[in-house]
Amino acid sequence: MTALPGVGPRFGKLMEKLAGDKVVALCWHLPTGLIDRRLAPKLADAPEGAIVTLTLLVDGHVKPGSPRQPYKVRCRDETGFIHLVFFNARPDYLQKALPVGEVRAVSGRVERYGAELQMTHPDYIVPLAELETLQKVEPVYRLTAGLTPKVLGKAIREALARAPELPEWQDAAYAKRQGWPAWRAALLAAHQPEGERDLALDTPARQRLAFDELLANQLALALVRARQRRQAGRRIVGSGRLQAKAIAALPFALTPSQTRSLAEIQADMASETRMLRLLQGDVGSGKTVVALLAMLTAAEAGCQAALLAPTEILARQHFATIEPLAKAAGARVALLTGADKAGARTAILAGLESGEIALVVGTHALFQEDVAFRDLALAVVDEQHRFGVHQRLLLAAKGQATDVLVMTATPIPRTLMLTAYGDLDASRLLEKPAGRKPIDTRALPLERLDEVVIAVERAVRGSARVYWVCPLVEESEAVDLAAASERHAHLRQRFGDRVGLVHGRMKTAEKDAVMADFAAGRTQILVATTVIEVGVDVPAATVMVIEHAERFGLAQLHQLRGRVGRGKQRSTCLLLYQAPLGETAKARLNILRETEDGFRIAEEDLRLRGAGELLGTRQSGMPEFRLADLAVHGELLAAARDDARLVVQRDPELATPRGGALRTLLYLFEQDAAIKTLRSG
Ligand code: ADP
Ligand code: MG
Repeated sequence: MTALPGVGPRFGKLMEKLAGDKVVALCWHLPTGLIDRRLAPKLADAPEGAIVTLTLLVDGHVKPGSPRQPYKVRCRDETGFIHLVFFNARPDYLQKALPVGEVRAVSGRVERYGAELQMTHPDYIVPLAELETLQKVEPVYRLTAGLTPKVLGKAIREALARAPELPEWQDAAYAKRQGWPAWRAALLAAHQPEGERDLALDTPARQRLAFDELLANQLALALVRARQRRQAGRRIVGSGRLQAKAIAALPFALTPSQTRSLAEIQADMASETRMLRLLQGDVGSGKTVVALLAMLTAAEAGCQAALLAPTEILARQHFATIEPLAKAAGARVALLTGADKAGARTAILAGLESGEIALVVGTHALFQEDVAFRDLALAVVDEQHRFGVHQRLLLAAKGQATDVLVMTATPIPRTLMLTAYGDLDASRLLEKPAGRKPIDTRALPLERLDEVVIAVERAVRGSARVYWVCPLVEESEAVDLAAASERHAHLRQRFGDRVGLVHGRMKTAEKDAVMADFAAGRTQILVATTVIEVGVDVPAATVMVIEHAERFGLAQLHQLRGRVGRGKQRSTCLLLYQAPLGETAKARLNILRETEDGFRIAEEDLRLRGAGELLGTRQSGMPEFRLADLAVHGELLAAARDDARLVVQRDPELATPRGGALRTLLYLFEQDAAIKTLRSG
């Protein structure tokens, strides 16, 4: 960024925060609005409230009587007067910019103050000779604190000027049929809106840029997949002996979906090709048991299996679920996290290397270099949307023909699924385990907090357990924490030491202790930041309170709500929102009240989430697109997938001229990992 003129380290940082760390990312920071400065009326005709560009003779400077009053400069043309108004002015600067008796071009918004025309802090004051450069349509960009429109606008213009013509990576016939401009021309057009219509997401320029991004995404996935298919797998067939024992030890019967998914997984494991399968099931649908049974198949075949969890809490919880069942089956299982003591760790590593330990559950500590398996046949990744696409897919390349099963609780709409996984085999757990009761979900304004506290009081008089999730504040964990601590203190005044607090900054041992207290009922109310989102299982929890529900993505709210309704009691979820709610926010909370079907929630979320409202995507961990908006460009995604497939079939090494151009595309979108798969292929 700092390679651009006028961009120092400070602005450079801000721009990186806004757009990304490559100069080209600035080119992709497309305008969200425009300011039309072409209107250049005489003062008598200047419409109140409009942005205008005026030609004015400077009459005189009116210095403020007190520092609180504004500095004014009186100007006129042949039809009237206007005051330019400046707060906290620097008089010497203003005297230089607006010398008395001279003519200046001034652009900004005209207001009427009583009988008087005013312009407060004009956007531009330039010599008359530059009038024409002023009189045009100016793009408006999303900013971040500390960055001004002028600095950002200039940097973007510089970045655009540096954008080279690149060889066309799109299929020429297709681009022509769509009427799309070339890459550089599309960028320039997207940054030069002439009217509101040019800001729409379906202009040829914006469509082309969106397609570029989607094509890079789909091609990267297709290349990784193709490479994975080229690598031979191995047949892993179990005897069913260990599995039967584990199933006998289950206090419940498997649901039909669980049985079917397990069969699909085992068929993949038994086949010659390498498995890469997604096990998709809503929160609480019982994925862990399915994973364990598949892992036992590997053990039966004399091999090992690993379950990788995104957080330590979750790894421990999986371990707690799996250990007794594995024991019943007679298989040894270990837990490996970053928090293990050196001695324990060494023992586990030895067990994994010798093969004595058949099953292991762990965090990414599992993938450190010193961890060696005797024979890892199956890796289960419980991603709960924390791992990146490439980690996810390249994991397959880590072991020796290791089968990979990815578990996800995010009910992903078909379109998004394509962007995250490409064409991946998927098993879905559709029904919830028997005996689950619907959750009574209500939305109420934060002003009614007192009533909520009373309801909580009623609930904890019994043995109920209550989650209280505190507002998510974007970009600042520290602020998240402050809000949660404050609520914790507030509830403690009323409920004393029955209230616990858990947040992301705690040490694992502390977190575990707090969770254990809550699970055991030593505390009954657990105030939390969103750390509890990931798979925590406390069946006695029956109340979920979420503050500032309007700030969460729908998928995340759905996940949070899934923490209750796991036991025999009826559960309640209270969504507290800050009134007034906008139409979309209202509609979103309504969906949650109407349904517990995660797939429906995900589809509706995608439909409702307009362009630019990325909160939901960001939190769900799905790939973020800068140029494409799947609510609008869904069809382009399908086309990009087909195109990527064709490319991989016809030009798997990207060796043709178009292939070369496509490599450039992959680099542009930082899909370098996919290019590496070509080289090491
Ligand atoms: P997920 O990982 O999909 O969110 P879990 O595997 O954690 O769900 O399962 C949630 C709870 O449901 C666990 O307590 C588990 O023991 C229980 N469970 C799993 N399968 C069944 C089933 N078929 N019938 C009843 N309870 C089940
Ligand atoms: Mg789980």
